Amino acid sequence: MRAPIMEVFSSIQGEGLLVGCRQIFVRFAGCNLNCRYCDTPESRNPQIGEPTSIQDLKSRIKELETPDLHSISLTGGEPLLYADFIKNLLHEMDYKSLLETNGSLPSEIKKIAHLIDYASVDIKLPEHVGTWEIIKKEIKSINILIKRGVNTYLKVVVLPTTLPSHVGRIAHKLQNEISEPYRTPIVIQPSSPLDYWIGSAPQLLKISEEVGRHFKVRLIPQVHKILNLR
Ligand code: SF4
Repeated sequence: MRAPIMEVFSSIQGEGLLVGCRQIFVRFAGCNLNCRYCDTPESRNPQIGEPTSIQDLKSRIKELETPDLHSISLTGGEPLLYADFIKNLLHEMDYKSLLETNGSLPSEIKKIAHLIDYASVDIKLPEHVGTWEIIKKEIKSINILIKRGVNTYLKVVVLPTTLPSHVGRIAHKLQNEISEPYRTPIVIQPSSPLDYWIGSAPQLLKISEEVGRHFKVRLIPQVHKILNLR
């Protein structure tokens, strides 16, 4: 069994609730969405990945192990396009794992939810993906992860054009449809580069307030980009 792997590297997690944790990143090539703000557009093409076996991937991960390693980040692209591969990989590894997913493939999440420790689910605002259908699937995925006891947080990327009231409406919908919203924080992530946000700090605070009516909320930019890390 092989999957198209774009890169394997060691760095610091720069997003979400595990920000600052040393991780080995496994970036899968290929994605089923086309978000307006995608910061790895090249990873959407599965052809760009090198077909890699589980044994080869395990060796590459082992070579990158450091004393401060927290976990393996399974990222993309969309890693759940290769859920069967990930299932076999996780069966053979002792590391803790973080799944970074767009959450749009609930039937694939079901295959591996019992094997992962942390999950970061990107909530796709309809204005960024052109449809409400993705959010319905994300809610299904989040409920599967919660049911399996996975430490899950949600991430919403916002642009300078994003209306706080719109994010608030989506947070309200999520609160009503997620099984344990009090256990599932939301991270607001301002899109990079941060120069775009000069003069827009009040808008970010307003977005935080809107989300805070329904969820525990954090506002965290992409820290690895500030530090010029991968
Ligand atoms: S889901 Fe992620 S990788 Fe896919 S297009 Fe959106 S931002 Fe890019």
